Amino acid sequence: QEEKQILLNAIRDVQDFPKEGIVFKDITTLLNDKNAFSLLMNHLEKRYKEYNLDYVAGIDSRGFIFGAALADRLNIGFVPVRKKGKLPSTTVCEKYELEYGFDEVEIHLDAFHGKTDAKVLLIDDLLATGGTANASAKLIKNVKANLVEACFLLNLTFLNGKQRVEQHTPVYTILDV
Ligand code: IMP
Repeated sequence: QEEKQILLNAIRDVQDFPKEGIVFKDITTLLNDKNAFSLLMNHLEKRYKEYNLDYVAGIDSRGFIFGAALADRLNIGFVPVRKKGKLPSTTVCEKYELEYGFDEVEIHLDAFHGKTDAKVLLIDDLLATGGTANASAKLIKNVKANLVEACFLLNLTFLNGKQRVEQHTPVYTILDV
């Protein structure tokens, strides 16, 4: 509980970003606080070292930061789930709806070395509507890996994303705000 308060205090609210009326949760202030960052990584390492994971997959782009750091701690590989057009080799793609329009995420077809049933943890900084996470979860399943859990530092509870993602995979959130 004290741990969660330290993490919460390390995250900054930025008003009216990226547009008016939106309060953006800024995790850069957690990353540049070595105590808060290591507290978070210790927490994640402790939870996931029992899972016998094969890979951590992080969502573009803040999921890369936590995901890569966690993969290194667990001594396993890291896989990026990227916004469309960024990955150089053969990809699998998944479209998802935004408030206005749509977006697409991609993963390398051979990201898990074609290893069927590789145990994968999906990670991102923040869960809002769950659209990005659900599309990313589909990608992992489409390349025949075994999505074990989706993990988020922050959960914006009023958007009910957790319920949406939980229909497809177990969800773990550290801070529910
Ligand atoms: P969703 O698809 O609606 O769940 O949105 C989640 C995605 O948007 C994640 O990749 C987040 O990093 C990003 N996101 C949305 N709102 C915020 C925020 O306030 N702070 C940081 N990232 C956000």
